[in-house]
Amino acid sequence: MLASGNPDKLRELRYLLENLPLEVVSIMEILPDWSIEETGITLEENALLKARDVTERTGEASIADDTGLFVDVLGGAPGIYAARFAGSECTYEDNVRKLLRTMLCETNRKASFRTAAAFVSPSGEELCEMGEVEGKIIEEADGDGGFGYDPIFLPDELDKTFAQCSPEEKHRISHRARALKRLIEKMESSKILNH
Ligand code: IMP
Repeated sequence: MLASGNPDKLRELRYLLENLPLEVVSIMEILPDWSIEETGITLEENALLKARDVTERTGEASIADDTGLFVDVLGGAPGIYAARFAGSECTYEDNVRKLLRTMLCETNRKASFRTAAAFVSPSGEELCEMGEVEGKIIEEADGDGGFGYDPIFLPDELDKTFAQCSPEEKHRISHRARALKRLIEKMESSKILNH
């Protein structure tokens, strides 16, 4: 069970889990009104919070991720609060505009995306792994793929923004792909997942 109500994240999680011997179902297919307050103060806490809640409600094993954008010159902001950087009802575009405005005169553009990917089973097994990608916040949005802050994030390992990448290119290096890869390796070594 995928513990996310965000269609963009669900699309990426499905893509990253597609070749595994898992039946991947989103919580939104079972409980369309599902949502949860992310009260944790770390990505790990929030990812585990979401996965635990979905496992409790459905009785099925679940996977959740929680992602933040950490900008050096802003002391790590927006960090775990990346979704609501521009306010409680804001859009991705509002967040991008606010970040570009906040960084208008900054020359240090270093930033990183970090993801915590969590697994929770009905018998109470819990795993959580991190993934990270470093890059820069560019001065003007570029590209219309991806979602969220992708149009202004230029990863150090590529010469284009995540929004200019195909899904294959993004997930060769993405924070989410790295976290999921580590989580799957842990699930395999703990015999939760057998090929
Ligand atoms: P969440 O708490 O994991 O849902 O993510 C918080 C926010 O980070 C989202 O609302 C997006 O704005 C942003 N975000 C998450 N993942 C990505 C990504 O892969 N690319 C760009 N922005 C992202």
